[in-house]
Amino acid sequence: MKPDEIDARILGALIDDGRASLRQIAKRTSLTTPTVSARFDRMKKSGMIRKFVPVLSPDSVGRGVFAVISLKVNSSSAEKLGSDLSKLPEVENVYVTTGQGMTLKVALSDVAGLQKFLSRRVLARPGVSVASSQIITKVVKEEPAPLSPSALIMNLKCDFCHEEVARARPYTLTTRSSRYYFCCKTCRNAYLEKFGPRLARIKHGEKTALRM
Ligand SMILES: [Zn+2]
Repeated sequence: MKPDEIDARILGALIDDGRASLRQIAKRTSLTTPTVSARFDRMKKSGMIRKFVPVLSPDSVGRGVFAVISLKVNSSSAEKLGSDLSKLPEVENVYVTTGQGMTLKVALSDVAGLQKFLSRRVLARPGVSVASSQIITKVVKEEPAPLSPSALIMNLKCDFCHEEVARARPYTLTTRSSRYYFCCKTCRNAYLEKFGPRLARIKHGEKTALRM
């Protein structure tokens, strides 16, 4: 399932404030609460929203020692290895990388635990060798990069020419009740020329600015 424009608006509001209530989200996105509620359930059911977790400041929580481990993996065993390693309680992140690589971030109780983890949990498996392993000495930043809602919008059609909008940041016109998307400046200007007076009337009635 891919998010449409309404999903993207809801996700945008959630990314800003993951603890916002359905009513608050509805207000911020100019949608109704039942719409937000239905979309939210659908996105959770489809797995698009996996879970809500607090983003902890890494230094304020004593969780032992972290290490980053780069592995070299036989391509035939990569998939199984990744899924097996991801089940280990010590393993926080698993990334498959270019160059037949796999990178893990693991949480261990102490520095001595790294060698133990490598020999028992990693090297005991077939088709894998350790390219490097480092203890993390300081966490400078550790949180997911916020997604731009407009980058989430797939298959968006231009409101003027109805071609697909390929840009990550489409040209837009916004009134209180709706948002119009355009593939290019020319389409936006053409739309304004054709429907501008009508939009201005809507704008007037809604007592809101027509943002461009
Ligand atoms: Zn267009």
